[in-house]
Amino acid sequence: MRLILFGPPGAGKGTQAQRLAERHSIPQLSTGDMLRAAVTNDTETGRRAKAIMDRGELVPDDLVNQMVSDRIDQEDCRKGFILDGFPRTVAQAEALTAMLEQKGDKIDAVIELKVEQASLITRMEKRVADTLAAGGTARRDDNRDTFARRLDEYQHKTAPLLNYYRRRGELVSIDGMQGMDVVTRDIENVLTT
Ligand code: ADP
Repeated sequence: MRLILFGPPGAGKGTQAQRLAERHSIPQLSTGDMLRAAVTNDTETGRRAKAIMDRGELVPDDLVNQMVSDRIDQEDCRKGFILDGFPRTVAQAEALTAMLEQKGDKIDAVIELKVEQASLITRMEKRVADTLAAGGTARRDDNRDTFARRLDEYQHKTAPLLNYYRRRGELVSIDGMQGMDVVTRDIENVLTT
């Protein structure tokens, strides 16, 4: 199963992707996590991405496309994967389609988690508080100013992509304001129909 999860920052993509990955025994491919790991490991990709991520902007398509292409070539992706945070631009979506076509594969489901804008900031602030309470370190881009920029990038660059998949008749929207377990159930229902 090859699945794309869409949603603005704070919509719960990461949580749902992780659950689905466990249930279906396929990897969760989070480009945000991959990029943060690249920054931590100070790789060339990390060095190119760091300042851009700190501003809450999207890193260049070529960089992310290459990272995803390398990742889905790995053995554990053969039976499927859950894309969390990719594609985020029309150019990335086109690159993904081409990458999969080369292998004779395609995406099976494209799911959007819809959440009201006002709830997103509250969710981000709760994530920061929970992380700090657990003794962890908050994400550098989880602050009000950078978060506003991330929302703006989503609205301008990623939301138009929903139309790309809608036109292809592939998009399913799910109410992400519901409890986490209900959202998981709704996604599973889409996958079995
Ligand atoms: P969120 O969806 O909550 O904003 P992510 O962890 O998915 O957070 O992404 C964090 C940052 O990583 C983004 O703000 C962006 O700078 C970068 N990033 C992640 N995925 C992509 C992508 N597909 N294209 C461009 N930049 C990306």
